[in-house]
Amino acid sequence: MVKAVLVDIEGTVAPVSFVKDVLFPYSKEKMDDFIEKNWDKPYVQEVLKQVEEMEGRKLSPKELSAVLKSWIDQDRKVAPLKDIQGYIWKEGFDEGSVKSPIYEDAYRKLKEWKEKGYRLFVYSSGSVQAQKLFFSNTEKGNLLDLFDGFFDTKIGGKKDKNSYLKIAQTIGVKPEQVVFLSDNPDEVKAAAESEMVVYRVVRPEDADWIRDFPYPQISSFDEVEL
Ligand SMILES: [Mg+2]
Repeated sequence: MVKAVLVDIEGTVAPVSFVKDVLFPYSKEKMDDFIEKNWDKPYVQEVLKQVEEMEGRKLSPKELSAVLKSWIDQDRKVAPLKDIQGYIWKEGFDEGSVKSPIYEDAYRKLKEWKEKGYRLFVYSSGSVQAQKLFFSNTEKGNLLDLFDGFFDTKIGGKKDKNSYLKIAQTIGVKPEQVVFLSDNPDEVKAAAESEMVVYRVVRPEDADWIRDFPYPQISSFDEVEL
């Protein structure tokens, strides 16, 4: 008997494009103001210190902002950029100027499952902190209370069967009592190998159907049978 549902975020409950088309441009647009306004704060000084080390020169507020914005354009995955983006997004979510999109069917079914007594969990490669931020201010309101727990890659990689075994163990159920939903075929395979019940979610704007995929593929949470 199924007792819990574990969901991926991007491409599953929310469009992949949100990060690329909304969050990244937002952090770029706010960078100058944010750095100027918070220049004396320890967390901006810490970012400054790291960027100055990487660049090998002293930076003014405008120069720091220019470097960070050029890194956004280059899609550099470096700690000080991730950190400053985290602060900017947090402010945006807190003020309500950024809201996370949630697919209608995902929202409806998650709420229904919660009401029926299933426990709901998130497993995403974004940090637990970022996941909580994401669900704290969505187009459907604050959804944090829907979930009983959050997992990130600290528990292990999403394409590793052992991560799913560990998650089941942490939740206190058998893997076969967990339904896992993700758009990523390798994640679906890894979860299936752990004996979880799996569905691959195929959102038309994010992914394509895979021919002869060995596990069920669905276009909506409505097709999930618990
Ligand atoms: Mg995904």
